[in-house]
Amino acid sequence: MIDDDRPVLDDHLHLDPDNNRGIDAVRDFVRVGGTHMLVVNKPSWHLGVEADAGEDFRPVFERTLEIVEAASAELPGRAWPVLGVHPGLISRLVDERGYAPAEARKIMRGGIDVAVEYVESGDALALKSGRPHYEVDDDVWAASNAVMRRAFERGAELDCAVQLHAESSEDLTEVAEWAEDAGLPAHRVVKHYASGRLKGPVPSVICDKDELERAAERGEPFLMETDYIDDPNRPGAVLGPKTVPRRVAWLLEDGYDEAVRNAHVETPERVYGIDTESTLETV
Ligand SMILES: [Zn+2]
Repeated sequence: MIDDDRPVLDDHLHLDPDNNRGIDAVRDFVRVGGTHMLVVNKPSWHLGVEADAGEDFRPVFERTLEIVEAASAELPGRAWPVLGVHPGLISRLVDERGYAPAEARKIMRGGIDVAVEYVESGDALALKSGRPHYEVDDDVWAASNAVMRRAFERGAELDCAVQLHAESSEDLTEVAEWAEDAGLPAHRVVKHYASGRLKGPVPSVICDKDELERAAERGEPFLMETDYIDDPNRPGAVLGPKTVPRRVAWLLEDGYDEAVRNAHVETPERVYGIDTESTLETV
C-alpha cells in the first residue's frame, strides 16, 4: 500500500459521467492510493458532437471542466483538464464527412484555438494535439502535422505543455524539434501512450510493467498513465482506473523510489508546472 502523503498522478485518462462510470472510477482510483489526475476531453464525436468549426468543441470542453471539478472534490489532491482535438478526427472529417484535408485542418486548428482560451484563462492546464497513429494519405498527414505545429505555436505563446497522441515510435525527436522551432521547449511536449524508452518528447508511459521498468531504469523524466476511456463497450481496450496506484505500489516494492518521485513529483512540475505535493491534503 502507498503512504497517504505520496502523490500518485495518472497523466492521461477520460471520464464520462453522462454515460458511464465517471466519478465512481475516481473513487476507485482514490481507494487504492491515487491522488491526482489529468482528465483529457473525450474525442468530440464520442460525445455526439460533429464539429464543423472550432466553436463546436466548446461544449465538449465545458463539460470536461465540470467533470474535473467533480473529480477534484473526490481526490485528496486534485484533477486538471487537458483540452484539445483528437488527431483521429481528421479521418472522420475527410473520409466520412467529405471535407478536404485543408478544410479539416482549419476546423481542427479552430478547436485548438478554443482550447487555448481555456488555458489562457487558467481553467485548463495543457493542450492536446498530435497526429494519426495509423497510415493515412500524404495530404492528410501533412494537414495533421500542420495542426500539431499550430498547437506547438499556441503552447509556446501560453507557455503551456502539449500532450500528443501519435504513432507508436521510440524516436520522435523530429516532432520535439518542431516544438522547439515553434518556441516550445521539448520538455513541455508529452507523448501519451508512450513506451519507456521514447526519445524526443517526455513519455507518458502506459502502465505496462515492462515499459515502466524501462522508464525507471533509464532515469529520464517520465509520467505514468492508463488512458482509461470509461467506456463499457470496450472493456479490454485500456487499463482500469486503479492501475497507476497499483503500479506505483509495485515499483516501490521493487525499490524504484526515485523513479516514482520522478514520475509523480519532479516530471509533473517540470512539464506542467504543477506541484503535486503542496496540492495534496494529508490527514
Ligand atoms: Zn486518451
